[in-house]
Amino acid sequence: MKSNKRTIPLIPLRGLSIFPYMVIHFDVGRDKSVNALEEAMVNDSMIFLTSQKEARIDMPTVDDFYEVGTVCKIKQMLKLPGDTIRVLVEGINRGKVREIIQEEPYFEAEIEEFVYEKEVEANKEMKAMMRMVIDNFEEYIKAGNKVSPDVLVSISEINEPGRLADVISSYIQLKPEDKQKILEAFNPYARLEVLHIILEEEIEVLEIEEEINNRVKSQINKVQKEYYLKEQIKAIQKELGEEEGLEAEVDEYIEKIQEINMPEEVKEKSIKEAERLRRLSPSSAETGVIRNYLEWIIELPWDTETKDRLDIKKSREILEKDHYGLEDVKERILEYLAIRKLAKNMKGPILCLVGPPGVGKTSIAKSIAKAINRKFVRMSLGGVRDEAEIRGHRRTYVGAIPGRIVSSMKKAGSKNPVFLFDEIDKLNSDFRGDPASALLEVLDPEQNNTFTDHFLEAPFDLSKVMFITTANSLNNIPRPLLDRMEVIRISGYTEEEKVEIAKRYLVPKQRKEHGLKEKNVSLSDNTLEAIIENYTREAGVRNLERNIANVMRKVAKRIVEENIKSVKVNTRTLSNYLGTPKFRRSETEREDQIGLATGLAWTAVGGETLSIEVTPMPGKGKLQLTGKLGDVMKESAVTGISYIRSKVEELEIDKDFHTKRDLHIHVPEGAIPKDGPSAGITMATAVISALTDIPVNGDVAMTGEITLRGRVLPIGGVKEKVLAANRLGIKKVLLPWDNKKDMDEIPDKIKKNIEFVFVKTMDEVLDHALVKGEK
Ligand code: ADP
Repeated sequence: MKSNKRTIPLIPLRGLSIFPYMVIHFDVGRDKSVNALEEAMVNDSMIFLTSQKEARIDMPTVDDFYEVGTVCKIKQMLKLPGDTIRVLVEGINRGKVREIIQEEPYFEAEIEEFVYEKEVEANKEMKAMMRMVIDNFEEYIKAGNKVSPDVLVSISEINEPGRLADVISSYIQLKPEDKQKILEAFNPYARLEVLHIILEEEIEVLEIEEEINNRVKSQINKVQKEYYLKEQIKAIQKELGEEEGLEAEVDEYIEKIQEINMPEEVKEKSIKEAERLRRLSPSSAETGVIRNYLEWIIELPWDTETKDRLDIKKSREILEKDHYGLEDVKERILEYLAIRKLAKNMKGPILCLVGPPGVGKTSIAKSIAKAINRKFVRMSLGGVRDEAEIRGHRRTYVGAIPGRIVSSMKKAGSKNPVFLFDEIDKLNSDFRGDPASALLEVLDPEQNNTFTDHFLEAPFDLSKVMFITTANSLNNIPRPLLDRMEVIRISGYTEEEKVEIAKRYLVPKQRKEHGLKEKNVSLSDNTLEAIIENYTREAGVRNLERNIANVMRKVAKRIVEENIKSVKVNTRTLSNYLGTPKFRRSETEREDQIGLATGLAWTAVGGETLSIEVTPMPGKGKLQLTGKLGDVMKESAVTGISYIRSKVEELEIDKDFHTKRDLHIHVPEGAIPKDGPSAGITMATAVISALTDIPVNGDVAMTGEITLRGRVLPIGGVKEKVLAANRLGIKKVLLPWDNKKDMDEIPDKIKKNIEFVFVKTMDEVLDHALVKGEK
């Protein structure tokens, strides 16, 4: 046997002995031990582990631990909550403390490490001893059943006597003193002998245990045993003053479950859970988990259903009373009701309402519920990225609850509510699973009658639910989801429509909410127009409603404070209520300018106007694009420039502009991401204006995709874009020829305000957009 010396940190262990070849993890919490670990990690990860003579000593001194221990290698460290560290170590060699070098801030010792040079071939005597120990171990396993039988196979392959003893010792449960005895046997043969004696003793004890057990078992048969145990629990509960406790509670649960008409499978499962509760001690943590589960089961609307109102006239009245316009949605719902009257079990449509914020998607859904007399629940999908949010966590998680679908159903209290999934286009997916696929199951009429929540572990029927979803744009909705739904587009409102909505719905609603009567406050149409024009810039009416609420609040305050009866808010006094106007039609912006063209864009929040600025500078033909432009938009700028290069002569532009000048194209409001090809002609117009010094007509706005040859291709979102142009007071809008068909959607009033020009080529765009004769 060879030995060498090394100086390494030392940790005394409580109730744990480590043998060479053993791989084990344990938790370290004492400061001194943590220090030792840290020191070891800085060096070569070697540490000396030895057992404390008495586990209960918290601050062991040198005399409190054994001299013989094991030199170990730290394989892994993991910080646990609190100051505990979990370490994984591998025992390498036996070692003995020669000298304690320091005691603070951690123990460090000079260790004599005993390295086995390839162990001696076992002689006959040793072989016999090895076989005996293996037999002992086998018996130990049979009697005690505490070791996996696989271990035996690997043990029988070990040839070295010392190693055999060490490996077996690491698998058996022994008193710490016995383990230490084995550890201190440096000679392999002696070690086997010690192990043999200990195992013999251990087996004897196990056998006696077994015998007693059998005797007891045969005495009490199964029924008796259960009775006995139950009586015992009762006695304990009585002792603890919890006599009434669980028994009564469990009976009550079972009674309730029996009363509810739920699927047999669920009933069986929940009754089983309730019975389990009976057997637990009231103070055990598990009772809470089971109770929580049973409460959920009892409160879910398994068999509660509201009766639909199939009176179309009445439903129409309700829909009309709540919302202006939105004809498509209203019609679709009334159609459905009509069909339901004829075909009782008709599945409802899954509507997807798509449109900019504030156009009433959420509130019409609520009103649909009212119209057909169903409960209404809403779940926002914005930012939902974890599948568990939809499907819940398994009950093995601490504090697990069902997913939001099941929670919402409980809130609804009926199994056929109108269920609104808001912002379905904002659904995320990442490593925590794919919420979209869970949603797909929810929306699939073939599958949703057995929707399984991880927490409930039981199917819940969603087939009677009427699902409605909302989105700002269709772009980000996963295709399979989109295929399930019937899309109804809702576009923004014109100023006149907004005035109507305000007059008929928002003002009365806000008036009532602020406790005012009709005679207390008056807002004329002009005032409403001024609010719309000067305080909001939006496709919907959300800010409009907010501003009206502000006015009402201030009016209410005046009525109380100044003791007056009624307040008239007019355009002159409006700023007293709402402060200085936030938006003004900025005249300066719409002067004719060189290198500045107005485009029309369609974003998730509705139509927008975009100013596109171009500045040429002396340079080498570099093209710089700023303002958060997407790839498609950048490409479309490049296409525009290629077109211009092919037309330099006609346009009277220096033919070398692309090698002598740099171009910087900027689209302000840089924080808003923009993309799409529809700014193509606008960018080209701005560039041509900048290169020719001919100003762009400030009253013109345009939208259209450009090709290399200067053709103008059609684009989407015409109505939203035109509404935006109208909001800004644009007089002339250039649209691609092929978008002529979209004019049906444009309100007549706007057609009067704006001149529409349909163009096929870039030449025509320039004819209308550039201010001629000013060069
Ligand atoms: P969205 O869900 O489309 O973002 P909301 O449903 O939240 O919009 O609507 C915002 C507010 O505007 C609500 O108070 C709603 O009642 C009101 N509103 C929107 N459109 C209409 C309309 N056509 N008629 C009456 N009120 C409307």
